Amino acid sequence: MTPVYNFSAGPATLPGQVLARAREELLDWHGSGMSVMEMSHRGKEFMSIAQQAETRLRELLGIPADYHVLFLQGGATSQFSMVPMNLLRGRRQADYINTGAWSKKAIAEARRYCSVNVAASSEDRNFTTIPPADSWQLDPAAAYVHYTPNETIGGLEFDWIPETGTLPLVADMSSTILSRPLDVTRFGLIYAGAQKNIGPAGLTVVIVRSDLVGDVLDFTPSMFNYQSHADNGSMLNTPPTFAWYLAGLVFEWIGERGGLVAMAEVNQRKAGKLYEVIDRLDFYSSPVDPRYRSWMNVPFILADESLDTEFLSQAGDAGLLNLKGHRSVGGMRASIYNAMPEAGISTLTEFMAEFERNRG
Ligand SMILES: *Cc1c(COP(=O)(O)O)cnc(C)c1O
Repeated sequence: MTPVYNFSAGPATLPGQVLARAREELLDWHGSGMSVMEMSHRGKEFMSIAQQAETRLRELLGIPADYHVLFLQGGATSQFSMVPMNLLRGRRQADYINTGAWSKKAIAEARRYCSVNVAASSEDRNFTTIPPADSWQLDPAAAYVHYTPNETIGGLEFDWIPETGTLPLVADMSSTILSRPLDVTRFGLIYAGAQKNIGPAGLTVVIVRSDLVGDVLDFTPSMFNYQSHADNGSMLNTPPTFAWYLAGLVFEWIGERGGLVAMAEVNQRKAGKLYEVIDRLDFYSSPVDPRYRSWMNVPFILADESLDTEFLSQAGDAGLLNLKGHRSVGGMRASIYNAMPEAGISTLTEFMAEFERNRG
């Protein structure tokens, strides 16, 4: 069987070793006689799985003790509401940076709860770059500043952390968390849907500084209240136990491979190889400002759009799956999260070179 490489943006490929381990443990987790899926979330077995996952994540990211780590449901999309519900804390406005499709969704949702000041936007540049820090019009009365460090659809990624003074910085890190080391202390809140770089869909990780939680909008349901989740160890109700367990295995896998410094080195090399081919062969191009090209999501277009279907079908035959770009932008997109092996990148770049030789 030819190996298959899955370039899906999410749910995305998981490390083969993690899946093999989950298979080994599937029917009988550590002699418990049960699958993790069947365990009480309050039993000692699952409590140890949950605790260990949190400890590993805290170690990987160096999360200080005054931050809560929450394992929630509802996807990053629920965070678009939970963030304003919990972080407005008596204020009526919030700053948002608009760098693409996911920023826009976060902005649209926040507008239900507060007045949104779009402090900077690259929409006039078709989201191919990031507005320079000195152009941002931050509102001192804002409750927080929200941005999207990696735009999964546009393939645009910050290589710097915004300086927001006393305003808490909030980041949607769904498609970039754990791809490189991170100084968590620069943030008030970080959130990420799991299905890109953490584990399977159904789990959302929130890292929040504890002094920011507890003062919610009056109508906030307890399921949307960070404090209620923190008070209950993310077990206010039944958590997504199996996804939480798999996330723990992924954290362990990252640790065994040298942690986030090692991840960053590999990710930079993988992305570099792919952009090198896109730039070298006239047949391919990337619209994104080279400084802000994402390490995780690599959109590219063919010089002749009428060859898109053939490209995708031949790629599929070569075991290179899910390269079709997002329906809103077209073209191609290779999502190359932590779990994409370097061999997947070599196979893709060789395929691209051959396709251009035959059809370019
Ligand atoms: C995938 C993604 C989302 C949406 O996540 P869901 O878990 O489907 O709600 C939001 N923001 C970013 C940056 C994403 O990549």
